Amino acid sequence: MVVSEQARVSLVTGGSRGIGRAICLALARPGDVVAFNHFDPDEEAATETLKLIEAKGAKAYAQKFDVSDPAQVAAFVETLVNEHGRLDVLVNNAGITMDNLLVRMSLEQFERVLKVNLVGTFVCLQAAAKVMMKQRSGAIVNLASVVAAIGNAGQANYSASKAGVVALTKTAAKELASRGVRVNAVAPGFIETDMTAKLPEKIVEAMKATIPMGRTGQPEDVADVVAFLCSDASRYLTGQLLHVGGGMYM
Ligand code: NAD
Repeated sequence: MVVSEQARVSLVTGGSRGIGRAICLALARPGDVVAFNHFDPDEEAATETLKLIEAKGAKAYAQKFDVSDPAQVAAFVETLVNEHGRLDVLVNNAGITMDNLLVRMSLEQFERVLKVNLVGTFVCLQAAAKVMMKQRSGAIVNLASVVAAIGNAGQANYSASKAGVVALTKTAAKELASRGVRVNAVAPGFIETDMTAKLPEKIVEAMKATIPMGRTGQPEDVADVVAFLCSDASRYLTGQLLHVGGGMYM
């Protein structure tokens, strides 16, 4: 089935839960196609997200694979494009943390976080860019983090990966702009998801105290900004990083 001109085909990485699920739902309009991958140990969250997307009248696809595996990424993108004729939106949302103080961090911890967060973003960006450059349109949004700008004790691997995502966003934006493809990034502050639920209470309280708006964020707070960056309302915007953190970083 090739979708109509108005319908949008979107791919969201790490879409099973948290911010990724909220992005899938913010993008899903009646008649659209929303595909996502995940790397959860089970299919529970992914199945729920599939149902929620379909309830919004969009066609939904989900598959479990590691976002940093080029062969699986290429196969997923190919299937989507063969089936629907195009790819309009890519949101590089999949990400992990493996926190440890710098002097205690193993090389494996450093490399794994770089692999998923930065290499994964590169692999998906490259696969999507090939399709979008040919069709001369597309919007890509990458998930960075406030810690790329300010650093965070215990997150040498994570903050470095996200700073890499910011630089990658700007470079891709420059390379793809003349082909009608926009590339932007969002940097969430403290958002309530599984990722932040595992942080110790003391750290959470200290972080909350640095948020001028006085509350932590919800996944939807980020998803609405991502949806704006994927929409025609942001048609003259590329290479930008929007901080979504209640003023945590200005
Ligand atoms: P989460 O842990 O709730 O969900 C992560 C998602 O990524 C899941 O769907 C998971 O299956 C998927 N994933 C993990 N590893 C993967 C892999 N190797 N391959 C494919 N998918 C994989 O996380 P979240 O809080 O929703 O974070 C989403 C994004 O936002 C991440 O990039 C994260 O770094 C970023 N972010 C989050 C916060 C926050 O406060 N929660 C702050 C700044 C940035």
